[in-house]
Amino acid sequence: MTRVFPVPGGSELRCKGWRQEGLLRLLENVLAVGEAPERLVVYAALGKAARDWPSHDAIVAALKTMEEDETLVVQSGKPIGILRTHKAAPLVIMANCNLVGRWATAENFYRLEQAGLICWGGLTAGDWQYIGSQGVIQGTYEILMRIAERHFGGDLAGKFVLTAGLGGMGGAQPLAGRMAGATILCVEVDPARIARRRETGLLDMVAESLDEALEMVAQATVQRRAVSIGLCANAAEVYPAILARGVVPDVVTDQTSAHDLVYGYIPIGETPETVPALRGDPAALMAAGRASIARQVRAMLDFQRSGAIVFDNGNLIRSQAVEGGVPDAFDIPIFTEAYLRPLFARAIGPFRWISLANARDDIARIDAYLLEAFGDNAIIRRWIELARVHVPVEGLPARIAWLGHGERTELALAVNSMVRDGRLAGPIAFTRDHLDAAAMAHPTIMTEKMRDGSDAVADWPLLDALAMASSQADLVAIHSGGGGYAGFMTSAGVTVIADGTEAADERLRLALTNDTALGVLRYADAGYEQALDEVASKGIHRCLA
Ligand code: NAD
Repeated sequence: MTRVFPVPGGSELRCKGWRQEGLLRLLENVLAVGEAPERLVVYAALGKAARDWPSHDAIVAALKTMEEDETLVVQSGKPIGILRTHKAAPLVIMANCNLVGRWATAENFYRLEQAGLICWGGLTAGDWQYIGSQGVIQGTYEILMRIAERHFGGDLAGKFVLTAGLGGMGGAQPLAGRMAGATILCVEVDPARIARRRETGLLDMVAESLDEALEMVAQATVQRRAVSIGLCANAAEVYPAILARGVVPDVVTDQTSAHDLVYGYIPIGETPETVPALRGDPAALMAAGRASIARQVRAMLDFQRSGAIVFDNGNLIRSQAVEGGVPDAFDIPIFTEAYLRPLFARAIGPFRWISLANARDDIARIDAYLLEAFGDNAIIRRWIELARVHVPVEGLPARIAWLGHGERTELALAVNSMVRDGRLAGPIAFTRDHLDAAAMAHPTIMTEKMRDGSDAVADWPLLDALAMASSQADLVAIHSGGGGYAGFMTSAGVTVIADGTEAADERLRLALTNDTALGVLRYADAGYEQALDEVASKGIHRCLA
């Protein structure tokens, strides 16, 4: 059967209510905007929307027939059963890719994945919250702006940013770089990914060779022109080659799928076409990947020693490099600890909303509301003004904005009333990335170098999921890492549908308020002054033991 992946929309319901219909549309949307939907792959090499096609079809059938007082249970992308619960319970609960600690290795993950017993949900693939590259644009933009403020007087005009990877998440980098005013060079080994980012307007131009790319960079930086340039090549070859020419970028990072050495990162000498034949010997493929990553990270460290601002953008490249023989790879800081932790300590993080009716005007109306209601907030104002001009629509129209405790709830309740009185064309789904204050334990990304040393404590995302299920969220998920992330992370996902009802008011108020309250409490417990300030100023009930 040939599958097609249209973007859903309209007002016609195929399910017994908008809550079920909304979740079904979100599932359809992650495939519509996904990287390889025919394999159910949404992003991050192997992050899947469902375990296999029979599981996918059974999930769709369940959502179409479920009553509001039932709960669908999904285990690693496979529907297991429907439980009779009550109308205030989640419609869907899921656990994706959680292995018992000692068994949580990349090797065990690949074995179980091959045996059809597990699948990796990524962060937002398995729980149907992915909105294409636009989901990560503001995160990358905010990192670049923090770097601009801290190191370059507030502006990246005339600065050269070097990065790699133009996949589902990495594809946001060229636009985020351009929005931050920089000249950004993105190295990508797969010509199809470069073509896709050109088509969607995320990438401005493509160089045919490294020489041409560096010439374009030199011209654009002299002219202080914000522009993004793609180069089809292997980053593990290009980074050392740039270094060998004596060129030192101002900012260096990488967003290749370095976390997955079997289905993601392409070693030197290989291409996306040659790698599948090598998967029969995963150990050899992983060793080749680590050797290439070691070369790339050595070059990144040399750039750092030469004065570049270098950071890890959350793809495990430093951990792979350590295993590949680069013991000082962790001299490169992680973006969370280096730039964004003060925001996370206030539970300010990547909140997002999606028009389930596929109505662009609804997102524009919410933008206008945000500018009016949150106009005093400099981060929000600057972001929304830029986003509404620059961020292309991918799939269902959506917007991301880094909002914190109280702000998310205020926005969602206002939007729910707009749905109720017909100012919006249809319901809106509210969700967020798993990379959020209460929602993620990841000792080499989100929780690296926590002030109290609690980096590897996974209680927080588990508590967050429990709190979300107790707070009437529509979908609650617990994920752990797959591929190279196996054993590295645990996270929680949540979605609430604003369908205009009074019951939705209650769900939004409870779930969104408690999600960020727990995030603030997590950072307060670790001793962050911003979180302690939020506790005091916003009246969050903290127990002192
Ligand atoms: P993806 O699999 O969709 O894309 C990865 C891209 O890297 C592909 O286009 C691939 O061709 C390219 N690539 C692989 N090896 C390469 C090489 N040697 N040289 C040049 N290009 C190469 O993955 P994605 O969704 O874009 O995610 C990228 C990474 O970022 C993942 O590790 C993911 O987990 C991580 N991530 C970080 C954040 C964050 O908040 N910082 C968020 C999401 C994902």
